[in-house]
Amino acid sequence: MMNLEKLIRPNIWKLKPYSSARSEFKGEASVFLDANENPYNYPYNRYPDPLQRELKEKIARIKSVRASQIMIGNGSDEPIDLVFRIFCEPKEENVVAIDPTYGMYEVCADINDVEYRKVLLNNDFSLDADRVLQSVDKHTKLIFLCSPNNPTGNLLNREEMLKIVTQFQGIVIIDEAYIDFSTEKSWLTDIDNYPNIIVLQTFSKAWGLASVRCGLAFASEEIIGFFNKVKYPYNINLLTQEFVSKQLEKEDDKNQWVKTLVEERSRMKKELEVLPLVEKVYPSQANSLLVKVPDANSTYKYLVDKGVIVRNRNSISLCLNCLRITVGSPEENSSLLNELKVYK
Ligand SMILES: *Cc1c(COP(=O)(O)O)cnc(C)c1O
Repeated sequence: MMNLEKLIRPNIWKLKPYSSARSEFKGEASVFLDANENPYNYPYNRYPDPLQRELKEKIARIKSVRASQIMIGNGSDEPIDLVFRIFCEPKEENVVAIDPTYGMYEVCADINDVEYRKVLLNNDFSLDADRVLQSVDKHTKLIFLCSPNNPTGNLLNREEMLKIVTQFQGIVIIDEAYIDFSTEKSWLTDIDNYPNIIVLQTFSKAWGLASVRCGLAFASEEIIGFFNKVKYPYNINLLTQEFVSKQLEKEDDKNQWVKTLVEERSRMKKELEVLPLVEKVYPSQANSLLVKVPDANSTYKYLVDKGVIVRNRNSISLCLNCLRITVGSPEENSSLLNELKVYK
């Protein structure tokens, strides 16, 4: 069984969190003179709910988890930073992550002065659990897995992931930013079975809300309690809480967008594969395609000249001469394909 006290930094375990007026008194009243708020300009004069209870109840219903298993962040970037601050002693402890993967894990490790150990994926971007577990030592607190992965787009094998989840004595962070675009079931259903996992999801991709900055971490109630202690008390403002709450009513739109994007992903893959320029299109379960060309730098520059911007991943591990192309609207995708068709 996992001993959370051995994993949490001692200063965080014994932290006495900031106690806001809004968290000390939660009930109904007619006169609020406890928070040095301005009485005018309702409702913006009042501090928002620090635990976003209404929004969490709605998310809990959609995701089939309990509200107490949810942390809402300013994008997924907030919980990614918080796991370092909760679990990792700077300069002493380390984390392990697959390579290539999402760049924010390493940036947050560097900011928090925590050693970041990269474990190469296989050449087809599949996961070798044993290689990951071999790079773990007694100072390893976290392992980052991203599935579907970014920038590669592939799912990691569930059995290999499970091996890591069951054999590693620390916390496994499973980033599911792209799960809506995939056929694989989410690890959310396993939060009760594996108390050492933290599942990350976001409203930035399938829900079309990147500008709103709203990300989610799902974990045991005990771990969520530590997120709540360490996060800024009012990390999600009222406008965001109310707006996201309303956007959740657009689940049918979200599903339609996902359906269109998944269809477009397979159309693009087929059309890209027959272009002389394209050496390989990697299988993707995300809203992007990783495409290998003879010279990614020159193809990237050519497309920029045509006003079409893709991501040059040439300098990323195992991604030599690869471009990451986001699946856009049918019209946007056709523009890209047309430019590549006439590439000399
Ligand atoms: C886009 C992305 C996110 C989302 O980040 P936000 O801060 O929620 O916008 C998280 N993880 C991965 C792997 C991503 O590609």
